[in-house]
Amino acid sequence: MSTGVRRIRVRVTGAVQGVGFRPFVYSLAARLGLAGHVLNDSNGVEIELEGKNGLVNRFLGELEASSPPLAIISSVSAEELEPAGGESFEIRASVRQDRRAVLVSPDYATCPDCLRELDDPADRRHRYPFTNCTNCGPRYTIITDIPYDRARTTMSVFEMCPDCRADYEDPSNRRFHAEPTCCAACGPKVYLADRTGSPVGCADPIGKCRELLAAGSVVAVKGLGGFHLACDASNDEAVAGLRSRKTREEKPLAVMVRDLDTAESIAMMTREEREALPGKERPILLLKKRDGHGLSELVAPKSATFGVMLSYTPLHHLLMKGPYPALVMTSGNMTDEPIAHRNDDALGRLSEIADFFLLNDRDIHIRTDDSVARFSAGAVRFLRRSRGYAPFPVALPEGLSRNVILAVGPELKNTVCVTRNGSAFVSHHVGDLKNAPAYASFLQAVDHLSNMLDVAPAAVAHDTHPAYLSTKYAKECGLPAVEVQHHHAHIASVLAERGIDERVIGVSFDGAGWGDDGHVWGGEFLTCDLASYRRHGHLEYQPLPGGDATSRKPYRMAYVYLRDAGPLPDLDEQERKTLDRMIERSFNTPLTSSAGRLFDAASAILNVCAVNTYEGQAPMELEAACAGDENGSYRARIDDGSPFIVRASDIIARLVEDMRTGTPVETCAARFHNSAAQVILEGCRTIRDREGISRTALSGGVFANGYLLEKTKALLEEDGFDVLLNTIVPAGDGGVSLGQAAIAARRLSCV
Ligand code: ZN
Ligand code: ZN
Ligand code: FE
Repeated sequence: MSTGVRRIRVRVTGAVQGVGFRPFVYSLAARLGLAGHVLNDSNGVEIELEGKNGLVNRFLGELEASSPPLAIISSVSAEELEPAGGESFEIRASVRQDRRAVLVSPDYATCPDCLRELDDPADRRHRYPFTNCTNCGPRYTIITDIPYDRARTTMSVFEMCPDCRADYEDPSNRRFHAEPTCCAACGPKVYLADRTGSPVGCADPIGKCRELLAAGSVVAVKGLGGFHLACDASNDEAVAGLRSRKTREEKPLAVMVRDLDTAESIAMMTREEREALPGKERPILLLKKRDGHGLSELVAPKSATFGVMLSYTPLHHLLMKGPYPALVMTSGNMTDEPIAHRNDDALGRLSEIADFFLLNDRDIHIRTDDSVARFSAGAVRFLRRSRGYAPFPVALPEGLSRNVILAVGPELKNTVCVTRNGSAFVSHHVGDLKNAPAYASFLQAVDHLSNMLDVAPAAVAHDTHPAYLSTKYAKECGLPAVEVQHHHAHIASVLAERGIDERVIGVSFDGAGWGDDGHVWGGEFLTCDLASYRRHGHLEYQPLPGGDATSRKPYRMAYVYLRDAGPLPDLDEQERKTLDRMIERSFNTPLTSSAGRLFDAASAILNVCAVNTYEGQAPMELEAACAGDENGSYRARIDDGSPFIVRASDIIARLVEDMRTGTPVETCAARFHNSAAQVILEGCRTIRDREGISRTALSGGVFANGYLLEKTKALLEEDGFDVLLNTIVPAGDGGVSLGQAAIAARRLSCV
């Protein structure tokens, strides 16, 4: 190149549309004095550049180094062209797009630039509760169809004012093609209503709302993905009132705080937690309570942690300016129902709970709960993956079927998953499919995800449990169906996250899943890849009197384990007789190998928790009771065989002995957890000896338990095992749809 001038065509793929990529390229090229153009096409972004060689190279260097915050670049490739001259750089209209390649972003928290404007009295967006830009704001919750533009969002009813229009059309502006952009002159408005829905006249609804909250009221606040029920988290009376009206007796309530310093004043944080809390996804993180935190004890009774999140919309930022340290922000629903997300629905369902409603006229198209995570065993682990993360895709292993697969998930903590071109898109948290509103929400999730990805599923993957509503849907939807065993799906979710398909030892410690022998599985030692699995061992079977309902009654499992072992818990004579009769006659009493029920039994025996008022309460409180520095454990025999049987009742017998001799509950609880970890190690050793596999994957709801996860991982690694864990989807049932999708994609690639 004698002139030192070159022209190249650059292709960028990944999440590069709708995230401010073209204006970024435009200003970078303009700054370097390069000519050419940028446009969106079916694969991502195409750029043509002409200029001095050194400047072109600088452009390429900065392209990746300083791309916009929401962009995720998968690949950059460049080809040389003949120089064509030209002086200027321009943003060209998009060429006709194959809509299949476009990724829809999750909803992200208000960015620092928007926050600055929110607080700047001179800015025209000062205190405007819906301000957003290309780097932040709603996406997944407001999109009604694709391609993603304003006309196909719930913002379509708001016509942009001339000022907003000018921002939107200016390539150098942060709001260039920010589809939900708006201001006080043209956008949605907030208003306050009483519990009958009658407007409360006031000049400043958010200011009035702060006063009401400070005075102890419960306010239903319409947020990004649905309604929250809010009250002052330091006010006992307000929190007690909210609890009793929501009939939520003991389940910890999430709190929102204004900034990291306030979070620090109520909770202890590690460096990783301090980094994750203010991330653009703004999850609720479970953080260890700090002594003297100043919040009501009723926020999270019997829990060692608070669920904490930072404000993530402009409305929240404005609300958090009130004279309270934190607000309880719990999902706006009655227990077991989906979160309310429409004004009329909220007024109908929440009027018995909330004193006031802070409403607005922007519709939420799809409800999306807050995501919940905790740090354990060195990484973030999701308990619920939803807002801020859904529908960001997981790249599946190579070589799987490219057919579009819909995986419908299990019954509890349901999510659905759709595959497209080698990626798996897991939906927002749908919830427990136990009632008609939840099932309607499930149907909407299936539609929303398929519409947004612009695909029609060619096959459906489902759980083997015949009674799940999701299974029934799969069998009746008319598509070729692939049945997937529940615990195989749990382990496959780990393989899918890692993009691998090789045979591993899979340990699934879980609540309940349909077993191939008709029993209720949940303490399983498998070997599996995505194609198939084999059950090598399991926790010994115990009767489960009352079936699924028994997961609410840990004392029943205590009774089951103690029938042979020792002193019986205080149990009503009548109930004892009933249980005996049920067990004797196997009436409504399946057998179970569930690890979750084993943890229930231990929790009840130690008098930590005998009745679950919410799912997982007994094991959570048992974990909270553990002494941190106890290394003792109780041995359990393993009956050799195929499958081998772990005698978990040995552990319970030793636990009872310990209690009898006056060992403190904290010590017993820790020893019990250590025993479970030890049992997993021994099961894995047995399989390694037989099969020569030393890579393990742990998944299933019981691994939400941080103490257990850390102990188990440490024991396995000390013994030379490689340990794979979930980091993208929950180890619990929220991850099952991903596992189902990966298994179905593998099986369909073989036919
Ligand atoms: Zn912004
Ligand atoms: Zn405007
Ligand atoms: Fe499960």
